[in-house]
Amino acid sequence: MKILVINAGSSSLKFQLIDMNGEVVIAKGTCGRVGAEIGEFDIKTEKGKFEKEVAMPDHTAAFQVVKEALISGETKVIDSLDEISAIGHRVVQGGSIFKESTLVTDEVIEGIKSLCDLAPLHNPAHIQGINACMDVFGKDVPEVVVFDNAFHSTMPEEAYMFGIPYEYYEKYKIRRYGFHGTSHRYVSAECAKIMGKDIKDLKIITCHLGNGSSITAVKGGKVIDTSMGLTPLDGFIMGTRSGNLDPSVVTFLQEKEGWTPAETSNILNKKSGVFGISGKYSDDRDILKAAAEGDARAELAKKMLWYQIRKYIGQYIAAMQGVDAIVFTGGIGENSQPLRQNICESFGYIGVTFNAEENTKAIKGKGGELSGPDSKVKVYVIPTNEELMIARDTKEIAEKL
Ligand code: ADP
Repeated sequence: MKILVINAGSSSLKFQLIDMNGEVVIAKGTCGRVGAEIGEFDIKTEKGKFEKEVAMPDHTAAFQVVKEALISGETKVIDSLDEISAIGHRVVQGGSIFKESTLVTDEVIEGIKSLCDLAPLHNPAHIQGINACMDVFGKDVPEVVVFDNAFHSTMPEEAYMFGIPYEYYEKYKIRRYGFHGTSHRYVSAECAKIMGKDIKDLKIITCHLGNGSSITAVKGGKVIDTSMGLTPLDGFIMGTRSGNLDPSVVTFLQEKEGWTPAETSNILNKKSGVFGISGKYSDDRDILKAAAEGDARAELAKKMLWYQIRKYIGQYIAAMQGVDAIVFTGGIGENSQPLRQNICESFGYIGVTFNAEENTKAIKGKGGELSGPDSKVKVYVIPTNEELMIARDTKEIAEKL
């Protein structure tokens, strides 16, 4: 069974074709600058990476390009579209409506549409992607949606409510939803597998650290708390996002600087975080390098990030009343050795021991165990694979049809 996994953004479309027999990626690529005069298309197959410039005025045109690439020319990996059994779409915001992955129906599309206010940059693009996919691949191929926050839907009220008048929860459904759920679900399940234990018996803290980052407390296989909130702005400092701060900082600056809501959102999402502190860099590699070369603001940004991650892990140990394993994933989690060393060493007091040699080996998609054999808490690097998780869900739903 072959499954096509789609991540449609407003001006981009990422895809992977996965053969579920062995869970092998047969082709993966990106349509960039969709809607612009000239778009960029790339695809990687076992024959290599192919790139071309091609006009993709809309998502339907982008899917046409993907379809042609999969079935013809030097990039061909399948004989016909009939080989694609089902299509799985990533959807960022499932709100309180969708608690698990589901087959796309008219009603489901209406549900995703009704959540556009909560994810104005993402959900409209996902709907475009789903509709365009139907135009190109036909209505007979089952389409499944996998929600970024469905895994977090198990959070109890006391974790997901904000301390503001209850009427705003009733009126606008303002609450913590969390994000990166597919990644947290994948790595927590992998962690249990590696430990050879039933996830129901484990308390795991998963740290997805990338340009956007979140930390999640998974108790008995269920999320009980997560750092991102109503939007992916909450939590700790990220590449360009502020993470949480005293809400008065926002109202104070709006008054002093005359920021509109849109300007405020832009500054907190795009000009803050380690970029805002360092004044120059949002990429963790640049921050580490500049800090090592004596740049005081890069050093401060680095220290703030490490400190805030430590605090979140500490919070979640308290929330779960213990921890069996801590997992690092995402671009930073999978690669930043100094960050991982700092975090592991800062939990020495709860019995975490650190294996420096394994830390240097776990990099660029290679996982590993960072804790020593005597460690009371296991620490792992587990490369994430959201696409595989989407493909697995899609397969499961398609097989039941
Ligand atoms: P996104 O949230 O956009 O999916 P990724 O998970 O790809 O992001 O993570 C991107 C981040 O990973 C960047 O900040 C990048 O600097 C960081 N990263 C990648 N390689 C390394 C490395 N060797 N050391 C430190 N950070 C790294």
